Amino acid sequence: MSAVTAPATTGSAVSVSGLRKSYGHNEVLKGIDLSIEPGEVVCIIGPSGSGKSTLLRSLNLLEAPSGGRVVVGGTDLTDRRTDINAVRRRVGMVFQSFNLFPHMTVERNVTIALERVGRVSRQEARRIATERLTEVGLAHKASARPISLSGGQQQRVAIARALAMNPEVMLFDEVTSALDPELVKGVLNIMTQLAKGGMTMVVVTHEMGFARQVADRVIFMDGGVIVEQGEPDRLFGAPQSDRLKAFLAEVL
Ligand code: ADP
Ligand code: MG
Repeated sequence: MSAVTAPATTGSAVSVSGLRKSYGHNEVLKGIDLSIEPGEVVCIIGPSGSGKSTLLRSLNLLEAPSGGRVVVGGTDLTDRRTDINAVRRRVGMVFQSFNLFPHMTVERNVTIALERVGRVSRQEARRIATERLTEVGLAHKASARPISLSGGQQQRVAIARALAMNPEVMLFDEVTSALDPELVKGVLNIMTQLAKGGMTMVVVTHEMGFARQVADRVIFMDGGVIVEQGEPDRLFGAPQSDRLKAFLAEVL
């Protein structure tokens, strides 16, 4: 077995090897190798169009890889026998647009996937929803409609909804980018708590302060490859590549 196609090494939460993704002739992921340990918080930074979202979506089977291998919690997502719903139970994802169901209450938004995909009883789903909404500070909004909440509150409901499935890994794709500035902190605080609690997290973000303070490792992507990665202090304090230096000069 060659190194490129070897299965996940023992214990990795996420193991990506030789991941490629093309849309037509446009190759947007050009061979990504990435291993994430349980409890690790990895932030992904990089310019628009560099492939960050495509990489994240590949970890949840929202994109089918064109090549390479993705293993999450020991399950090979690129094996066609893998049950997509089983994978999605184990990998929670939160998007820039909150994607809440507008006609359902906050509580129902959290319980519906639990009942339908997680196959738990309505009573148990409500217990879990209360627990998760309490974690994000919104238990008192259980019977509200999403539209009556601020963007930051809606995003916290989306986080509670993802957490309700008790995922092994949480993926966040620019979850604060659509929020008014004063609402960003509340969402980042929830994510910081989650990180401190030991959740394995992959976070695509423009929030360099968050990346610096919370990430165990920061990955800089450009042009469909990982250009550079390291501990936040090293990556931000002593960037090696010209591309990262130029990027940081733009965003910091
Ligand atoms: P980022 O999240 O870093 O901004 P993306 O992963 O969204 O980058 O996109 C990387 C590239 O892939 C971009 O050039 C984008 O236009 C292209 N792309 C993304 N999704 C699709 C799609 N569904 N169909 C065609 N091209 C896509
Ligand atoms: Mg993106």
